[in-house]
Amino acid sequence: MTSSFLLMTFAICTLIIAVGPSELLRIGAIDVDGHFTFKPSDLASVSSDFGMLKSPEEPLAVLHPSSAEDVARLIRTAYGSATAFPVSARGHGHSINGQASTGRNGVVVEMSHRNIGTPEPLVEPEEMYVDVWGGELWVDVLKKTLEHGLAPKSWTDYLYLSVGGTLSNAGISGQAFHHGPQISNVLELDVVTGRGEVMRCSEEENTRLFHGVLGGLGQFGIITRARISLEPAPQRVRWIRVLYSSFEVFTEDQEYLISMHGQSKFDYVEGFVIVDEGLVNNWRSSFFSPRNPVKISSVSSNGSVLYCLEITKNYHESESDTVDQEVEILMKKLNFIPTSVFTTDLQYVDFLDRVHKAELKLRSKNLWEVPHPWLNLFVPKSRISDFDKGVFKGILGNKTSGPILIYPMNKDKWDERSSAVTPDEEVFYLVALLRSALSDGEETQKLEYLKDQNRRILEFCEQAKINVKQYLPHHATQEEWVAHYGDKWDQFRSMKAEFDPRHILATGQKIFQNPSLALFRPSSSSSSASW
Ligand code: FAD
Repeated sequence: MTSSFLLMTFAICTLIIAVGPSELLRIGAIDVDGHFTFKPSDLASVSSDFGMLKSPEEPLAVLHPSSAEDVARLIRTAYGSATAFPVSARGHGHSINGQASTGRNGVVVEMSHRNIGTPEPLVEPEEMYVDVWGGELWVDVLKKTLEHGLAPKSWTDYLYLSVGGTLSNAGISGQAFHHGPQISNVLELDVVTGRGEVMRCSEEENTRLFHGVLGGLGQFGIITRARISLEPAPQRVRWIRVLYSSFEVFTEDQEYLISMHGQSKFDYVEGFVIVDEGLVNNWRSSFFSPRNPVKISSVSSNGSVLYCLEITKNYHESESDTVDQEVEILMKKLNFIPTSVFTTDLQYVDFLDRVHKAELKLRSKNLWEVPHPWLNLFVPKSRISDFDKGVFKGILGNKTSGPILIYPMNKDKWDERSSAVTPDEEVFYLVALLRSALSDGEETQKLEYLKDQNRRILEFCEQAKINVKQYLPHHATQEEWVAHYGDKWDQFRSMKAEFDPRHILATGQKIFQNPSLALFRPSSSSSSASW
């Protein structure tokens, strides 16, 4: 018994040692038009992400592909290898929990680095779409489409994210109530599956793969091209913020705004929660100052929580005479604190790129590259008030360490056939707790404190039976993933078996176990294998 155990341990150790060099040789032999890199600095550059929550883990190699075929060649090699080594696309590395990493025995495909050969965005103005490489950043998609007076319809708040990365999640912002998430605005995809096949898919062709990949957390294939639907680009934006002291009035107004149909409505509806005594800490607050200073004490809140509604009206310069009147009519229906209206007017591109300005500011203070224990939740409308009482007015106390966004969306703008998971109600809210941790800050700004707060928020939701779904999900066990997907799990699992049967892709999501990772971790035969 003891000697056979020792023999087995020895065999496993030998295999582990062999995995690295032998796979390195196989990878080195793959003939690609782009290039592989094994340089320590390149490996280090993909070993961490925006979250900075995990210790960096360098992969075996990084591929800088020039084409979908390069990606396919790598995946075919991984698929055919004894260990089925992991391959993960990395967009811009803006995940929080290592979702784009492979661990030490995999290969990261750097999608966002421009290589000789990776195609430029190609705009078809007549057909109102743009074809883009999967690693293209949204900011570059915007620049290219604006040359034709066109722009995508649905956005994220921040544009330095990759097309493939946001389409693997959903891609949401204040336009989603009207246009749906970014995954509702895609016409066609080229995808390299976990078998190494390059497949074109759309509503008409390979439909299951098309819907599965959208919101599919990279589990079924690497998106190498996306065809994105466009609209005529607005030129200017009237950007308005108003405050509320009553959560009920605030959400009533938000829900009213997203229920409006027809031409005359706001184009963007978001909001955020202000629990801090000042707005200074909040990187979304630059809007208020210095030209437009606001002191929270000037608005009667009795030291309690305030809510800020953020809305925009897009317009063409030729409409500048009428926009004031149109905004005034729309605002008349709202019940905000009358003295709390803050308005600004800017170019469309500056509005869309607003978070980048905050990024530059934070970078200059060394506050960008810090740990980000973010928590993003979809909360059903019927329970948002309970969430407010339990979390905003309860667990958070009066310190937040970063912006807390809250805005509602209409479920009928989400395609149920996609892999994205949302609550089972017609209207649900995004609550995004976008906190930064500081090692030398107050106790309430420390990483462990914020992580513990996230845990308490999830626990509170579970105990109060608020059926939240995580956006940009992160779960520790397969049991939790099964619960996350609910009715969609069987379909999700069968798609995995069909398109990535050896569990090569996006192993950093930790949904399915990769066989080569199993060499390093004790695997469980039960369906609730713990990670
Ligand atoms: P990565 O983090 O590199 O990858 C994310 C996952 O997608 C990984 O599993 C990866 O393997 C997979 N993947 C990457 N590329 C591909 C591809 N081509 N094909 C298949 N799978 C792929 N999200 C919103 O929806 N709305 C927002 O307003 C928003 N704002 C943000 C602001 C900031 C400052 C940050 C840091 C993030 C924000 N996000 C937002 C979250 C963002 O959508 C996710 O981080 C997302 O993962 C995209 O980031 P990325 O392109 O860097 O992808």
